Amino acid sequence: MVRRVASSDALQVRFWGTRGSTCASGPQFVEFGSHTPCVEVRCGERLFILDAGTGLSALGMELGPSAPEKIDILLSHLHLDHISGMPFFKPALLAKERVIRTYCGHLEGESAMEPLSRLFSPPLFPVRLGQLPAQFEYHGFKAGEPLTFDDGTRIDTHLLNHPGGATGYRLSHRGRSVCYISDVEHSDPWPDPDLAAFVRDTDLMIFDGMFSDAEYSYCRGWGHSTWQKGVELSKAAGVKALAIFHLYPGHDDDFLKAAEAEMQAVMPTAFMARERQSFRFEPVEDDFDTGCADPLKTQVGREKPVSLKDFAT
Ligand SMILES: [Zn+2]
Ligand SMILES: [Zn+2]
Repeated sequence: MVRRVASSDALQVRFWGTRGSTCASGPQFVEFGSHTPCVEVRCGERLFILDAGTGLSALGMELGPSAPEKIDILLSHLHLDHISGMPFFKPALLAKERVIRTYCGHLEGESAMEPLSRLFSPPLFPVRLGQLPAQFEYHGFKAGEPLTFDDGTRIDTHLLNHPGGATGYRLSHRGRSVCYISDVEHSDPWPDPDLAAFVRDTDLMIFDGMFSDAEYSYCRGWGHSTWQKGVELSKAAGVKALAIFHLYPGHDDDFLKAAEAEMQAVMPTAFMARERQSFRFEPVEDDFDTGCADPLKTQVGREKPVSLKDFAT
């Protein structure tokens, strides 16, 4: 028997940037947003940030002075679209006591310190991260190793097929889970059994479906997948809901809404991720301690997408 209780100890997800490679801008890009990858995940009160694309600056504006004193940023990899928000993260500018910890898993155990220091320094950029008031810490690990934190939180990781590698993350909290699988190119054959095992039965998989199958022949080897491959992986692995992410900046609202309708005809709980869209997964209390929710009873709480117009100044 599975029962749920309303609780503030939920697993929550909010998208702050859903575009891949570069930003999108213009009236035809309002519904799905403009920023590059950044996702806020709350395990109860605990904050994790997945990637530091330009969406990180918007998250930082929202957090402001109320940001936690210790902030953990889990980086998929260091391509520019995933780190370019780093120097514009407002909490890093506000308090000397704040510690911002980055985690990087695709450099054979090396941290992101040297590459980020190289990029955010003159003449490429006027301010070094080390000159910001907050203290930055850099942790390196090998994708595939679990991350453990001093409060007992554990996050599983997986190496992804992408030029130079990338790290996928699985965050679990009170019987619910979210998997972040960006950036990745699908294998042949597909689904990859190791990746399917990694995302099995998750409540929400965020997946790099930058292209469609029809476009893929032009983009082979670029390190990205298609929304159709995301659906195939979801069905093979019992994924309960699928968010297509790392959206191609050339795909406007009309294109993405049409693709979403096509996708939902074969997987009703699949959708194209929208900037500022959020989800809340209530804890699962499992009397038989199977650690797994009943997928037929799982509902995804989807808030109405917020128009970017509401935030224009
Ligand atoms: Zn990317
Ligand atoms: Zn990349």
